[in-house]
Amino acid sequence: MRAIMSYYRKNSIKWSCRRRRFTEKKANAFFVGMMLDRKQGTERAWEAGQYMVENYFYDIGDFWKEISVTHLSTIKKICREGYYGNHFALNVTVNTFPKNLKSAAKKTVGEYESDVRNVWNNVDAEHVDEIYNRFKEFEGIGDALAKMAQFILVRDYGIAGGKKSKKYMSVKPDTHLQRVLFRLGLAEKETAASVVANVDNLKLASPADFDWAVWNIGQKFCYPHEPAYSNCPLEKVCEKHL
Ligand code: SF4
Repeated sequence: MRAIMSYYRKNSIKWSCRRRRFTEKKANAFFVGMMLDRKQGTERAWEAGQYMVENYFYDIGDFWKEISVTHLSTIKKICREGYYGNHFALNVTVNTFPKNLKSAAKKTVGEYESDVRNVWNNVDAEHVDEIYNRFKEFEGIGDALAKMAQFILVRDYGIAGGKKSKKYMSVKPDTHLQRVLFRLGLAEKETAASVVANVDNLKLASPADFDWAVWNIGQKFCYPHEPAYSNCPLEKVCEKHL
């Protein structure tokens, strides 16, 4: 536990206390970039999101409305070759991304007044997990993406009270947390249920910070195959390694 939080203190960036402004275009680029951040480098994904918003689907001045009424074959064509002649998505997501984008557009128009800022607006600190839950209702946005989006919005943009809300954010037991906590010996099984039960017993002061640290260690060192033991900050305390 101490080693995990020490990694957090050395590596995390500060939580925002002030809410930062999101223009509609910036919010759309954030949302598309987040959807694209699967099976490709983060930098490319977020840049591609920005590029899409700057170059497509703004003829009628309503990005999501336009996607929702555009034929899927046209969306597929734009996705396939619209990013400097390449696909916006990469690897296995090339087939699902256009469908998920259209589905997200319909949901945004129908449930969020065509404005993705409404997915995270009007949420107070005590109900901050609502942001995560809302993201997860979109097709193609799983546990990890929903968690990442919630975390960036709250920590970096001061949404839902920013720093005030971190004590209300719960641990999300995705595959990184399951794998790392199981290997560390902090969960009996590599399952979401075991993580939730065991993390509950830890009585964490800040579950969100713990979550961030374990998730990052899972991404950077504790690979499913051939974990990078020698560079891992938990090497000296990890049950699997000892
Ligand atoms: S020491 Fe190895 S098994 Fe343990 S958390 Fe680090 S990378 Fe994973």
